[in-house]
Amino acid sequence: MKPAPFAYKKAHSLDEAVALLGEHKDARLLAGGQSLIATLNMRLSSPALLIDINGIGGLDGIAEKNGAVEIGALVRHVQAERSDLIARLAPLIARAMPYIGHPAIRNRGTLGGSIAFADPAAELPACLMALDGEVEAFGPKGKRAIKAQDFFKGLFETALGPQDVLTAIRIPVATKDTRVGFAELARRHGDYAIVGLAASARADGKGLSDVRLSFFGVGDTPSRARRAETALAIGDVEAAVAALDLDPHDDVQATAAVKKHLAGVLLRRVAKQLMEPRP
Ligand SMILES: Cc1cc2nc3c(=O)[nH]c(=O)nc-3n(C[C@H](O)[C@H](O)[C@H](O)COP(=O)(O)OP(=O)(O)OC[C@H]3O[C@@H](n4cnc5c(N)ncnc54)[C@H](O)[C@@H]3O)c2cc1C
Repeated sequence: MKPAPFAYKKAHSLDEAVALLGEHKDARLLAGGQSLIATLNMRLSSPALLIDINGIGGLDGIAEKNGAVEIGALVRHVQAERSDLIARLAPLIARAMPYIGHPAIRNRGTLGGSIAFADPAAELPACLMALDGEVEAFGPKGKRAIKAQDFFKGLFETALGPQDVLTAIRIPVATKDTRVGFAELARRHGDYAIVGLAASARADGKGLSDVRLSFFGVGDTPSRARRAETALAIGDVEAAVAALDLDPHDDVQATAAVKKHLAGVLLRRVAKQLMEPRP
C-alpha cells in the first residue's frame, strides 16, 4: 500500500518547526521515519503535512552536562550504540541498543523519535523510566523538562503538546555503585519484544537499594513493578517474582498469563545482572 498524499516541508530551526506545527493542525514531525513512514504506508495515519526536522542543527550531540548524559533527539540509534560516552556513563542504554530492530532501522531511527512515539513494547522508553531520566521539549513557550514518570501518559500518548518538539533526553550519569540490567524475549532478535525489562539499582554493601524495574510490552506504557522492587532490595529474588505487580493484557504476541510468566523469567535473569559487580 502507498501513503495518502501529503505535503512536505523541511524545518531549519526549532522556532520554524514550532511555527509550522502551529499553522498546520494536521502535521507530523519526521525524524528517522522508521515508525512514521510505516504507519503512513499502512494508512494508519494520513497527515496533510510532514515537517522534516533533520535539517535542525544542534540536535545530534551526545554530551556530559551537569551530572547527566544529554542525548540529542536526532542522535541515530547506531550513533548511540557506538558511543563510548554512553557505554561508560549510561550503560543501560548501551545494553539496550542492539535489541532495537535491525541495523538498517538503527541507521536511520532516532532516540527522540523512539521516545516521542512511545511504543509500549519499545526498549528506550523503559530504559528512560528505569534510569529516572527526563525529556527536554521545545514548544511555543520555549524549553521545558519533563520527568520520565510524567512523560508516558498512555498508549502512544505522551506529555508532548501539539506544538512541541522533543529536543533531548537526559540520564543521570552512572557512578561506580550503579548497577543495570536488561533482558527481553522476542520471537526473533530485532522484533519488538513480547516482554522486556530494563532495570537499575545502586550497590549498597552486599545488597541493592533504589531498585527500579521498568517492564515493557506488558501495558500501555513502561510499567514499574514497585512491590517486586522492594522485595529485590532485600535480596529475595523469588519473593520479587511472586510479588510482580504487573497487569498485562492479551495481545497479538501472547496472552496476559504468558506475559506474566515471562516477566518472572526476565526478572530472575536481570536480578543476576544487578547483583554482579560492574566490570
Ligand atoms: C521493522 C521495524 C522493527 C522495529 N523494531 C523496533 C524495536 O524492536 N524496538 C524499538 O524500540 N523500535 C523498533 N522500531 C522503531 C524504530 O526504533 C524507530 O526508529 C523509532 O520508533 C522512531 O524513531 P524515528 O526517528 O524513526 O521516528 P519517526 O518514525 O520519524 O517518528 C515517529 C513518531 O515520533 C514523532 N517524532 C519523531 N521525532 C520527534 C521529535 N523530536 N519530537 C516530537 N515528535 C517526534 C513523529 O512525528 C512520529 O509521530 C522498528 C521499526 C521497524 C520499521
